[in-house]
Amino acid sequence: MLKVDQIDVYYGNIQALKEVSLEVNEGEIVTLIGANGAGKSTLLKTLSGLLKPKKGTIQYLGDTITGKQAQSIVKAGISHVPEGRRVFANMTVEENLELGAFLRKDSKGIREDFDRVYELFPRLLERRKQLSGTLSGGEQQMLAMGRAIMARPKLLLLDEPSMGLAPLLVKTIFRIIEEINHAGTTILLVEQNAHMALSIASRAYVIETGSVMVSGPAKELQASEEIKKAYLGGL
Ligand code: ATP
Repeated sequence: MLKVDQIDVYYGNIQALKEVSLEVNEGEIVTLIGANGAGKSTLLKTLSGLLKPKKGTIQYLGDTITGKQAQSIVKAGISHVPEGRRVFANMTVEENLELGAFLRKDSKGIREDFDRVYELFPRLLERRKQLSGTLSGGEQQMLAMGRAIMARPKLLLLDEPSMGLAPLLVKTIFRIIEEINHAGTTILLVEQNAHMALSIASRAYVIETGSVMVSGPAKELQASEEIKKAYLGGL
């Protein structure tokens, strides 16, 4: 479904990604793990068209999307939930969700997806008239994910969905990620919580200082002594 081939990405003169290659197959949950500053968010931003690679190619459903505008990438079915739950604070929950569907014209499908988001996140239904800026951190994360679902993506890019959430809510968010996946959306998940991420993913890539160091089935990585030491707190 997605094939990233040897991409280099720079911020000015600083190289943030070096010859990164990665694949995501339809139906999978794939996770990207790595230390702070490794380049995980940079990779997601490049996939969603916010950054342009200097070298390399990105193919999605057989088309080359390297360097395409973010809007046409959303239209092609890739939604990005960025780090830090960027919701529109002065708009209500419902208005934020409507924005997620702004490129769609199928009003019946949009209504169905509203129902689906409210089913996944009952908390958002209770608070649909509330200004998003007054939601708790966890609720804003749910809204950011809900807004991405409203675009009815084929591929969902999630950047640190568990960041700053209480343990119980982290579990809920991971369960919902699995539900979204079971309902047919392919997921590329960036996580600091490597333990949880590896437990729901089929495959994983470990990124260090801008390069893919290791990749393989999530179960194998979870069992590897090196990975345990470096990313799983020695668990
Ligand atoms: P974290 O887990 O801490 O979010 P990350 O793996 O997502 O880290 P990135 O945010 O992709 O890391 O950053 C990769 C590198 O690029 C870092 O060294 C970072 O300082 C640098 N970087 C990120 N954004 C910019 C920017 N806008 N301008 C310059 N350098 C940047």
